[in-house]
Amino acid sequence: MNARNTSPGFDRAQGREPMLVVDDLHVNYGAIAALKGVSLEVYPGEIVTLIGVNGAGKSTTMRTISGLLKPKKGSINFEGKEIGGLIGNKVARLGIAQSPEGRRIFPRMTVAENLELGAFTRKDDISSDLDRVFELFPRLKERIGQKAGTLSGGEQQMVAMARALMSRPRLLLLDEPSMGLAPLLVETVFKTIVEVNKQGTTVLLVEQNALVALNIGSYGYVLETGKISLEGEARGLASNDEVRKAYLGED
Ligand code: ATP
Repeated sequence: MNARNTSPGFDRAQGREPMLVVDDLHVNYGAIAALKGVSLEVYPGEIVTLIGVNGAGKSTTMRTISGLLKPKKGSINFEGKEIGGLIGNKVARLGIAQSPEGRRIFPRMTVAENLELGAFTRKDDISSDLDRVFELFPRLKERIGQKAGTLSGGEQQMVAMARALMSRPRLLLLDEPSMGLAPLLVETVFKTIVEVNKQGTTVLLVEQNALVALNIGSYGYVLETGKISLEGEARGLASNDEVRKAYLGED
């Protein structure tokens, strides 16, 4: 099943070409087939949400787009170029940054050093980018000289997002940015994602927090055991009975 769920007259493309086209992506871990033909698109300016239960293949999809895993079959096209199988730092140089699940920041380095590393793709002056991320995350400015490993979970999440933004990506991949955060911080993180998007960054967002994620996104995909089972306007998906049953615990 690959059902679409859009309202009449809905025109996602609005005359634009997609920025990212993932087509029939297959990824294995040894003998385990984690992705079995995932296809999705992201248009410039969108926040696209990818939801699915644990083990559905969300992180695998993100990690394959960002070049950490190699596809077995299928293609990943970014702004007209095939990037499937390119190594991570080549993908980053083309304009894609990932803020990984579990944060993966450098704990023994300071906040400032973590952010500078995020700008590794750039040779120009990064001071205006530092100003921008400190505007988005004022808390990090207060902690600029502190070792990142001593920050709270929410602050580490902010470092991970800020670090990803330092490369000025055109496409930002966010894998479970709200994981393990207190509800108030979850709200802050989602508001920041919306702000980053308003400032011109396209976002592909993976979230367990399905309803909140669909609320800020414009289009969504549901991943089920390595395949897209449902897709559509985010608003439509958030009110879809199957989605509400599976992801929001409703009967
Ligand atoms: P979660 O929300 O738990 O992170 P997910 O939707 O991101 O789940 P993936 O982490 O992409 O799912 O996992 C997809 C499938 O691949 C699962 O069956 C998982 O057990 C398997 N898998 C993931 N990482 C590995 C690995 N390093 N080695 C072997 N199998 C793996």
